[in-house]
Amino acid sequence: MPEADLSASSPISIYIHIPFCQMRCTYCDFNTYTGLEQLFRPYTEALTQDIALWSKPDRLTAHTIYFGGGTPTVISVSLLDHILTICEQTFSLTDALEVTSEANPGTLTASYLRSLRVLGVNRLSLGIQSLVEAELRLLGRLHTADEAAKAVAEARTAGFENINLDLIYGLPGQSLASWQQSLSQALLLEPEHLSLYCLTLEEGTPLATDVAQGRQPEPDPDLAADMYECAVEQLERAGYAHYEISNWARGPAPPGASPSLACRHNLTYWRNQPYLGFGAGAHSCLGGHRWWNVLQPGEYIARLREHRHGGRDHPPAITASEEISPRLEMGETMMLGLRLVQEGVSVGEFARRFGRTPYEVYAGEMEELRELGLLEWDEARVRLTPSGWLLANEAFQRFL
Ligand code: SF4
Repeated sequence: MPEADLSASSPISIYIHIPFCQMRCTYCDFNTYTGLEQLFRPYTEALTQDIALWSKPDRLTAHTIYFGGGTPTVISVSLLDHILTICEQTFSLTDALEVTSEANPGTLTASYLRSLRVLGVNRLSLGIQSLVEAELRLLGRLHTADEAAKAVAEARTAGFENINLDLIYGLPGQSLASWQQSLSQALLLEPEHLSLYCLTLEEGTPLATDVAQGRQPEPDPDLAADMYECAVEQLERAGYAHYEISNWARGPAPPGASPSLACRHNLTYWRNQPYLGFGAGAHSCLGGHRWWNVLQPGEYIARLREHRHGGRDHPPAITASEEISPRLEMGETMMLGLRLVQEGVSVGEFARRFGRTPYEVYAGEMEELRELGLLEWDEARVRLTPSGWLLANEAFQRFL
């Protein structure tokens, strides 16, 4: 990475990637691996070494920590504890620190959840994906619908007051009725937050191969759009604020703001603010630069070992980096901010950051999108219209 000012004026977010899972789901193309239990400890050592390299007298302030994966909860609580301790020693952590861990039902016990809560993890993101057994089998999930409900109950008992549930729609063979069944049952679990994702068939995954070879029906994009629209209505009726294209949360939501239980970590990304990512394949964005770490956990460990023995510059696990030009930063701020249904892109914030309003930079693009019915704005915010939520990618392209 070229010389760069890697200080941050506003609090940063920290992402920690745990690239291990017990089994590979049929649709997954994430950077995660099975059967690497022997790497849990050396990987944690490498992670903590990598994090500690950011230790400096004028510490960076962090306001969120997010354990993602993979399945972070496959590693022991003591290893997660070690990582959090090094974060505390390296960064100034804000009082209202949000600490999220992703987790999968079927990998959790009541005592593990209690220990996680005691560590300071205060937000749990459970990948339940569906509450219909046949769909869980199709997705290759390890857990049953009952185990998903049990995981939520045990998380409540452990003291978690902020729980997200991930659900996937647009599955091969999924009907609107079965989607509504999953969603209704998820609502009975009273999560504070819901993330609903449309299935993407990633080339090379077993599910994509099954569809390509005719063993599973091709998902119908029009039906998936209907599922999304049903969810928007159903969740509004249930009192959730729709704050990001795919995300809903409880909590007060003043006009033009995201609700108090929105995922603050992900808001960092959508507001195009700085973050540091640690671990195999993790991305960072700070000081006008963006960089990516090597993908393989074994190589990540080797890079950190090499650094310990005197080789490699800091940060040692980088595989690629780029400078973010002001033009690119503006475009990304528009693209990411427009994902936020209520907040959108704040005209005032944009002008403070770039010296010009969005309209001064993108008048042609904005007018065109308004004519298409995808964009609206006033003196405070630029936002997608509800029609724009389903055609967001078309709108985003205009800004990049
Ligand atoms: S649990 Fe998540 S990260 Fe792991 S294989 Fe399944 S979808 Fe991928």
